[in-house]
Amino acid sequence: MALLPIFSTTALGGDFDAARRQLAADIAADAARAATWTGRAALSPRVMAAMGRVERHRFVPAALASQAYLNRPLPIGEGQTISQPFIVALMSDLLDLSPGDKVLEVGTGSGYQAAVLAELGARVFSIEILPGLSREADRALRAAGYAGIMLRVGDGWAGWPEQAPFDAIIVTAAPETIPPPLVAQLRVGGRMVIPLGPQGAAQELLVVEKQADGDVVRCRVLPVAFVPLTGEGARR
Ligand code: SAM
Repeated sequence: MALLPIFSTTALGGDFDAARRQLAADIAADAARAATWTGRAALSPRVMAAMGRVERHRFVPAALASQAYLNRPLPIGEGQTISQPFIVALMSDLLDLSPGDKVLEVGTGSGYQAAVLAELGARVFSIEILPGLSREADRALRAAGYAGIMLRVGDGWAGWPEQAPFDAIIVTAAPETIPPPLVAQLRVGGRMVIPLGPQGAAQELLVVEKQADGDVVRCRVLPVAFVPLTGEGARR
């Protein structure tokens, strides 16, 4: 019987596995600390398992791979960031997804949040305004085995009307007002998780639920700091 060589990626993966386990512990500690704001002492086991499966080092620039499992945002180029893992986990948790849900993400960035949503069994549609970031996210997602995620380059303020309605919408850059097209594209009973507020001043993470009459109920969750939603969002 021929012996198969053992490649060094196994060892590398092993190193990152330990770092990912530490990151899960850091996220759980942040979740406990934030419980008075979020009302959730712990994130769901499904979300924690999804966070444990996605290899964040695949979604950051190679030079930052050694920092990929720190619980903090990192630069991904073009002045943008991959969000802090705790915030990715919390936003995923707040969406309360069921497998098969159709989810719109505004702000693909690195593709990491989209991969976490795919691990939760969602059908993911993600819009990014910067073509270079969308291309790089596409490459990283395919390389990591998430070829089913649909990406589009464009202004997420307008949503993705051809694919509406969505069971859930997640916005990963902050506008100052909730984009009306996104509310229109959310199904009745659906949830949107969105940071709201000007850059450099107080922003809040909101959960927005759409009622049968088309109105929304907003619930404030946590003070946050996100990059601004550009495009039409910046003109409102
Ligand atoms: N979800 C991303 C991830 O997992 O890496 C992090 C996103 S980063 C915090 C916010 C992203 O939103 C940036 O890539 C930015 O270019 C994008 N963005 C800003 N305004 C946008 C808009 N109007 N439409 C779509 N994307 C936008």
